[in-house]
Amino acid sequence: MMKSYSDPNFLPFTRPSIDEETIAGVAEVLRSGWITSGPQVQALESQLSAWCGGRPVRVLNSGTAALEIGLRLAGIGGGDEVITTPLSWVATSNVIIAAGAKPVFVDADPVTRNIDLDLIEAAITPATRAILPVYLAGLPVDLDRLYAIAAKHGLRVIEDAAQAFGSTWRGARIGARGDLVAFSFQANKNITSAEGGAIVLPGEADAALAEKLRLQGVIRFGENGMDVDVVGGKFNLTDVAARIGIGQLKRLEEFTARRRELARHYFDCFDRSLGCELPPEDFRHSNWHMFQVLLPERVKRAEFIARMRSAGIGIGVHYPAIHLFSLYRRLGFRDGQFPHAERIGRSIATLPLFPAMSKTDVERVCRETTRILKGEEK
Ligand SMILES: *Cc1c(COP(=O)(O)O)cnc(C)c1O
Repeated sequence: MMKSYSDPNFLPFTRPSIDEETIAGVAEVLRSGWITSGPQVQALESQLSAWCGGRPVRVLNSGTAALEIGLRLAGIGGGDEVITTPLSWVATSNVIIAAGAKPVFVDADPVTRNIDLDLIEAAITPATRAILPVYLAGLPVDLDRLYAIAAKHGLRVIEDAAQAFGSTWRGARIGARGDLVAFSFQANKNITSAEGGAIVLPGEADAALAEKLRLQGVIRFGENGMDVDVVGGKFNLTDVAARIGIGQLKRLEEFTARRRELARHYFDCFDRSLGCELPPEDFRHSNWHMFQVLLPERVKRAEFIARMRSAGIGIGVHYPAIHLFSLYRRLGFRDGQFPHAERIGRSIATLPLFPAMSKTDVERVCRETTRILKGEEK
């Protein structure tokens, strides 16, 4: 694994772009004598808040922490049900279980691969408290419909926008409106702080509570005075990480534009006769976090991935359906419950897509995919 990442001819499915200005900035933070949460965290928060139309934002040490704190702020706890998708990174539903609540899965839409909004109302019970949608590969759901359903049933919304920083819905940035919105800045995301995350909040009261929850419930006042009135965790972001995030945020628009251009090139070059299902051709809302194809049923995915790897190309799997993991089977979930998520989870393959890639790289991925899926020898 590590060998591939140091091999200049290996094309990974993603790779962060950290510029020299950011590296110098990180060195400055390291030399400053203050490396944990401090001025860089505050600067990143105010820049993110400006990005999100002035809404309060608090940064955290992961996207998972953003979801956990989002659930706490929404008052989700024992006996509550939260509606979500089985087609996501497992963090999405693990945080619901960790909160003492019950994940209620709704199948994915076979075209968008996101939660099927048509199926949400049938899953609502008297115990339902919130909807936790995921914007897979950066493609948002129809936010007008989502919030109409939530309003009709009095539900909170915690948006898992971990993959959707830089995406928009009908001209509005993800995070600029809505209820609680969670972002991740983990290394593979469109902008990164190595590890990190942020939550966009409905109001300043939530921001004060989020600050407590991220650091042991501590409230500070006066000269070294402090009190603790809730149980908090240890979710604060370091200034070292925040400085990376500041360097990345400057380049977000450039990154997104480059991802769109490369995704467009995939649509132009990908051999449509192979029987793969391509993602929706959305050049209006998505930040193109990933370019994912569904392999035809006849293809063994593991074999395809191994052969692409031998050809020097990294392929990702995002994601196997969550409800089929053994933890979830123990909770009573089983095969056949969410057929679209299961089929997508079995056949999905993430092709390389990241800003530093070239159009020639896209052409190489398409060529090798054709060669391998057609069973031709080199
Ligand atoms: C990355 C990711 C998360 C978790 O973010 P971390 O920063 O890794 O904790 C949650 N949900 C989705 C959909 C993700 O892609």
